[in-house]
Amino acid sequence: MEKRFIPFALPDIGEEEINEVVSTLRSGWVTTGPKTKEFEQKFAEYVNANVEAIAVNSATAGLHLALEACGITDGDEVIIPTLTFTATGEIVRYLGADPVFVDCDPNTLCIDIKQIESKITSRTKAIIPVHMAGLACDMEAILAIAKKHNLRVIEDAAHTCPSKINNVYIGQHASDAIVYSFYATKTITTGEGGMIVTSNPEIAKRCKVMRLHGINRDAFDRYTSKKPSWYYEVVAPGYKYNLTDIASSLGLCQLAKADRFQARREAMAERYFAELSDLPLILPPKVKNPATDLHSWHLFCCQLNTDKISRDEFIQQMSDHGVGTSVHFIPLHLQPYWKERYQLSPTDFPAASQYYKNAISLPLYTKMSDEDQSYVIAVIRQILA
Ligand SMILES: *Cc1c(COP(=O)(O)O)cnc(C)c1O
Repeated sequence: MEKRFIPFALPDIGEEEINEVVSTLRSGWVTTGPKTKEFEQKFAEYVNANVEAIAVNSATAGLHLALEACGITDGDEVIIPTLTFTATGEIVRYLGADPVFVDCDPNTLCIDIKQIESKITSRTKAIIPVHMAGLACDMEAILAIAKKHNLRVIEDAAHTCPSKINNVYIGQHASDAIVYSFYATKTITTGEGGMIVTSNPEIAKRCKVMRLHGINRDAFDRYTSKKPSWYYEVVAPGYKYNLTDIASSLGLCQLAKADRFQARREAMAERYFAELSDLPLILPPKVKNPATDLHSWHLFCCQLNTDKISRDEFIQQMSDHGVGTSVHFIPLHLQPYWKERYQLSPTDFPAASQYYKNAISLPLYTKMSDEDQSYVIAVIRQILA
């Protein structure tokens, strides 16, 4: 078998993206402007015509703005899964609030919904579900708990462009805000970038103001509206979280390909299922109902199921064969900052701790050819034989 080099992830950037970016550069308008406005409109149409989409320079920024707009502040508690990227927790700390960690459901790797209510206190203000790997959480169940306890819901939808559950796309539920990531490794990318989606006009308004220094009109309006262009009002100490038109021109091209990308990822995931199922490997959770649900397949999260080789050794051998893999995620309760600050112990999170011990994410992205995937499968079969 001839050695190949298969990185863990690669963006899928075509000539369309390159031409769009060049045309934006030639236009002279490089920061937030007409391309960003168009990207926001197209994104809102893509997920749901009745929402507003607000472009930001990362999902982390978007989650921060959404929580701030929901009034989360000092001393509040926000429920999050332990099995997520640290961004889901850090934005809670930005506002002086405290995350309260919940174990994952081993059958979905998403937050264990059965454990949410036992974590609710008089300080709890919000829940941030994470659609792990692109498998949508049961939003109806989460929204019902939130309604009962008067909590806000901000979805960390970093993995879900596009995902769907019970015929409802992520982005269409009655959550306060849904936040997407366009980081380099995500299903569609703008290099760095993110999008807040909300059907609540007050949240939309606050996010737009706080996205750009707490100024009540954005730069585009400032130069196109009839008021004098030099005039603006600062209404709060805002942030600098706006997305550039360079990034948005990339995003417009990527969004147009999102469904094609998802179909290709799903076909590749199906191939892993077909060709790896006889190995000592626990394959990722699938959607409950393929007729009504859609998995974005942002990640392909497996668990080794053998005593013959450790996870670390498996990753090393994959790397020796030129195949990049990763681990999603090191649960937050094992990270020094979160563990020490909140006195967290692995025994409080048995499912995520167990998953992490053997977790390994296989490469899955549209730039991988069928031959690349054949090679990855052959290497795995050789190591686990
Ligand atoms: C990537 C990711 C983020 C952060 O996205 P950025 O756009 O890089 O800020 C947040 N949450 C999860 C679950 C992620 O995977």
